[in-house]
Amino acid sequence: MVRSTSQPTALVAGGAGYIGSHACKALAAGGFLPVVYDTLSTGHRGLVRWGPLVEGDLLDVDTLAGAFATHRPAVALHFAACTYVGESFEDPARYYANNVVGALHLLDAARSEGNVPIVFSSTCAVYGEPGSVPITEDAALAPVNPYGRTKLAVEHALADYESAYGLRSVRLRYFNACGCDPDGEVGESHEPETHLVPRAILAAMGRLDEIAIFGDDYPTPDGTAVRDYVHVTDLADAHVAAVRHLLGGGDGGAVNLGTGRGFSVREVVDAVERVTGLPVPRRVVARRQGDPAVLVADGSRARRLLGFKAVHSDIDTIVRTAHAWLAREGPSPRPEAGAVDAIQTT
Ligand code: UDP
Repeated sequence: MVRSTSQPTALVAGGAGYIGSHACKALAAGGFLPVVYDTLSTGHRGLVRWGPLVEGDLLDVDTLAGAFATHRPAVALHFAACTYVGESFEDPARYYANNVVGALHLLDAARSEGNVPIVFSSTCAVYGEPGSVPITEDAALAPVNPYGRTKLAVEHALADYESAYGLRSVRLRYFNACGCDPDGEVGESHEPETHLVPRAILAAMGRLDEIAIFGDDYPTPDGTAVRDYVHVTDLADAHVAAVRHLLGGGDGGAVNLGTGRGFSVREVVDAVERVTGLPVPRRVVARRQGDPAVLVADGSRARRLLGFKAVHSDIDTIVRTAHAWLAREGPSPRPEAGAVDAIQTT
């Protein structure tokens, strides 16, 4: 790793996780030194490749303050959160503690270091069941699961901190993050893996018996839920653009990150079959609690504010890059993979 003293530092909470590690790669390519702050409970040491690692929890205010004091970041990015919708119904206390209380600690640390601007990982789950699609940032915010409610609570806190204290932040509302680094340096290693794209690929590879399709009675063309799948490398590049926007003195706000194009669950599974050339055994089961029918982004604000372009997000590139990572990773969990009940880093 080549370091220069003139490199501005970015503190990346959750930088050893899936989206966080891809963002670190993009930050390093953009001239920043990413300092990862992560518990490694579900993040992976092996995904920290472009800067130092501080092992710490957002709930540990002393370690967090120490990381700010030592590394003097120009900007902070916040990826460290619990992200499973189903689990958020079963254990909301954990979600509120990690996602809301932990985030507030980060905001307070950033504030006490002179208002270090923040890029926050939010989610399209803040919209709940949208009244119309594509969804603009001004749509009603009515999450239908505890996970979305924790993310929305932090968005409100960020907006209030900005008005009251001048702590600026960009709240990036991801639609469905998927795919892996086209160079294969980092990738998606969740344990357990719950997401559609990797699960369908694992089923194609015979590492899962089948893919369960959660509901085919939605009001959509083929009855399965429709989502806007966006490649993680495109998301990562959007973070660098958001950092530059904030460091250039730009105002904060919420920004959707999606492609504007929706795919149904069946279309995704079909794409996995086509791209891998392997059959995907599938079975329709009941809907999953808290899953809206259709979530597709209106990406105009991202284009205008951040110059966002989804260049890697065609479904074939998504499946090909995710398949390459999973094929290389092998059938057993990585040794440093954390316990299931620890903090998830997106
Ligand atoms: N899904 C599915 N089977 C799976 C995993 C997901 O049918 O094994 C569906 C899920 O109901 C949703 C879509 O695929 O409509 C995307 O779900 P995922 O968990 O990948 O992301 P989320 O939308 O929860 O962020």
